[in-house]
Amino acid sequence: MCIFCDIINKKSPAKILYEDDEMIAFPDINPSAPVHILIIPKKHIKSANELKAEDQALLGKMVLTAKKLAKENKIDQSGYRLVINTGKDSGQIIEHLHLHLLGGKKLGF
Ligand code: 5GP
Ligand code: ZN
Repeated sequence: MCIFCDIINKKSPAKILYEDDEMIAFPDINPSAPVHILIIPKKHIKSANELKAEDQALLGKMVLTAKKLAKENKIDQSGYRLVINTGKDSGQIIEHLHLHLLGGKKLGF
């Protein structure tokens, strides 16, 4: 269906940092910061525009997973940024919803 679905289905490789029934997390292949992890729902949701009320708990769990990964990567105290790019102007290139966890340096805009 898409490159992230291929990783979820283990058809493409990635260093899996976290996985459960609903989501998976692995490092970004082209990191913008010393810690750059993608947290991805297993359900193929194209973007934030396609989110439904039934996805509310899933999104909450993705943020909690990001928090856990921030602590594991020792950036919880130094700080981090959570980003969901949506659509053309944001620079979204993969049309499968994903949460970026960025940290490990002073982040610019
Ligand atoms: P977007 O711009 O869509 O929010 O971010 C997509 C991110 O996915 C980019 O930062 C890009 O480097 C990353 N990415 C694209 N393809 C792959 C891949 O095959 N494996 C991994 N680990 N990351 C990828
Ligand atoms: Zn997908």
